[in-house]
Amino acid sequence: MTRVAFIGLGHMGNPMAANLVKAGFAVRGFDLLPDNLSTAQGNGVSIATSAEAAVTDADVVITMLPAGKHVLSVYESVAKLAAKGTLFIDSSTIDVDSARKAHEIAKANGLLSVDAPVSGGIGGAAAGTLTFMVGGDAGAFAKAEPILKPMAGRIVHCGEAGNGQAAKICNNMILGISMIGVSEAFTLAEKLGLSHKALFDVASTSSGQCWSLTTYCPVPGPVPTSPANNGYKPGFAAALMLKDLRLSQEAAKSVGAATPLGAHAEEIYAQFGAAGNEGADFSGIINYLRDAKRDS
Ligand code: NAD
Repeated sequence: MTRVAFIGLGHMGNPMAANLVKAGFAVRGFDLLPDNLSTAQGNGVSIATSAEAAVTDADVVITMLPAGKHVLSVYESVAKLAAKGTLFIDSSTIDVDSARKAHEIAKANGLLSVDAPVSGGIGGAAAGTLTFMVGGDAGAFAKAEPILKPMAGRIVHCGEAGNGQAAKICNNMILGISMIGVSEAFTLAEKLGLSHKALFDVASTSSGQCWSLTTYCPVPGPVPTSPANNGYKPGFAAALMLKDLRLSQEAAKSVGAATPLGAHAEEIYAQFGAAGNEGADFSGIINYLRDAKRDS
């Protein structure tokens, strides 16, 4: 039986680990928060007393942590303890530079590694339908695929080390920009006396069509499952959207890419968060835009 160490059992990690248990993997987990450990234990994960203890005898080590500094600190403390050839999978959303450093630590210790961030949120984690964007060499990817499968709807090999993170932040930069675009269109329509339904019916089958409109519509009504129909409860919290937009802008700066709309989207989400909306769904940006004053 393949032994998986799972480090970081939060909103995403816990349901992901539970799906690995259901698929027949022996999962040993660790988190800093006792409540998360109890939830994991209830899902059939055996509990380790530390990250170091979790990786002892593991064939695969999965991390699902908040940011690059957490991933690097865990890699630095556990990589030397893992057997040569152990596969390390980092599914956290982190900056590309840290992801590449994590690969270097793994390589220096004779380990295989992939960066494999996800989209699909807590719902996708629970349902086992996440999209994994994977960076790493072909050998590591081939070994990672069957491990990711029970947690995945889709697995895409994006290229070499760090390219999974690159795909994730590029995708979420599109999402942040498009959600603001769709929200601006609905607020303009309201002021012009055009109903939500009429705009939706036209744009959803015209060139304005996009996921932010047709799957995640920011006004209540047209898409009954979107958070707009549920008081803008997340979903995907505005704080996480801001995190991903910041990562996209750090990356753009480091390679000299001009991303003016990405930069502006980051600014708008920063203002939205600072106004007390960090915990709201990111589509709630429409309420912020509706109340905003036009400059001229
Ligand atoms: P979370 O805060 O719920 O979980 C992170 C967990 O890591 C926490 O339980 C924390 O205690 C634990 N942790 C931190 N440092 C640790 C350490 N040194 N050792 C062991 N455990 C440690 O966050 P989440 O929502 O599960 O997100 C995890 C990652 O997935 C983030 O990088 C996030 O950006 C990304 N992500 C989240 C979503 C989402 O919808 N929540 C969607 C896609 C990607």
